[in-house]
Amino acid sequence: MAEPLLKIRNISKTYVTPEGGTVEALKDVSLDIAQGEFIVLLGPSGCGKTTLLRTIAGLEYPDSGEILLDGKRIDDQPAYARPVNTVFQSYALFPHMSVAENIAFGLEMEKLGKEEIARRVEETLVQIKLTGYGRRKPSQLSGGQQQRVALGRALIKGPRVLLLDEPLSALDLKLRRGMQVELKRLQQDTGITFVFVTHDQEEAMSMGDRIAVFSDGEVVQLDTPREMYRNPANRFVADFIGETNLFPCEIHSGVVSINGDEIPARLLAGNAVVGDNGSSVVAIRPEDLVISQSQGILAGVVRDVIFTGSAVRVHVMIGTEEIVAVLPSHGVSVPERGAQVQLDAIDATIRILAS
Ligand code: ATP
Repeated sequence: MAEPLLKIRNISKTYVTPEGGTVEALKDVSLDIAQGEFIVLLGPSGCGKTTLLRTIAGLEYPDSGEILLDGKRIDDQPAYARPVNTVFQSYALFPHMSVAENIAFGLEMEKLGKEEIARRVEETLVQIKLTGYGRRKPSQLSGGQQQRVALGRALIKGPRVLLLDEPLSALDLKLRRGMQVELKRLQQDTGITFVFVTHDQEEAMSMGDRIAVFSDGEVVQLDTPREMYRNPANRFVADFIGETNLFPCEIHSGVVSINGDEIPARLLAGNAVVGDNGSSVVAIRPEDLVISQSQGILAGVVRDVIFTGSAVRVHVMIGTEEIVAVLPSHGVSVPERGAQVQLDAIDATIRILAS
């Protein structure tokens, strides 16, 4: 990677709670973000992603660590002096001001000339697809349009980095999908570096150039969506990103077995570490399982067959464990409920995970 635009170095932050305890919200977090990158901070509620975003914004100060932008430290600067802007989940628009006034607000504060402000507001309205809406009040807009105004208000200042804290979470699913595509396009068109917080793994996968998965105040994996999906670093990531079947397995002398049945080496992913003897966990993605006409790696009984349109989800009981195979909805034969089936896996797809 070229010299990163934003360097986050060993950031730690502990909060003192009103109950008198402490919470380690960030534990020695380091992250390099490239110019023009769309990076997603993903993790379950309470894992520290908002705290990191607020620390970059200057709304929170870390206990230790540094944040550098273009090689210069910004963590000691007040929020208003940092070349970053934030879009909040709650939009935080001024209700008594028009759309144009809301968008112009940051430039008015900088005391720019009236003509320049008007020109930049018009440009921004085009960017956020709200041309002609400048005179409306926020209450006269839909939720999606209000979110665009919040975005416009942040973009007009030409930030080096735009910080977005769950900006789409108040929108319904369909609108949210549409806004995800638009936001990604806008980011690519403007070339502004985006740091986007979400707890929705599908949103993270569809938008991020890279995803930083957080757990309990730490970054557990930083990768492209594809790499993260195919090669999750541990059980937490495998379970959190996409759907996965997890099984206990035994490893002895480099041989992996599930319920005493040996898994052929050809099925194991290239990076499988099978050196250690003992118990571990294997992960198999549902789309990597196939119903086999001959002896497979697992035998079970079909519990449910669910047609979802583009696919068929087959739930199979392997002893007391339930696993899911996702088959194409046409072109393959689908077993009936109650049928005895053999399951096989596509070559090089089974992963052994660190727990
Ligand atoms: P969410 O998705 O729910 O917003 P998050 O991953 O963004 O979660 P943070 O908001 O960063 O999580 O919070 C991390 C931890 O720090 C949580 O345990 C939270 O309760 C705690 N925390 C956050 N802000 C404060 C505060 N001002 N005082 C005390 N504890 C706080």
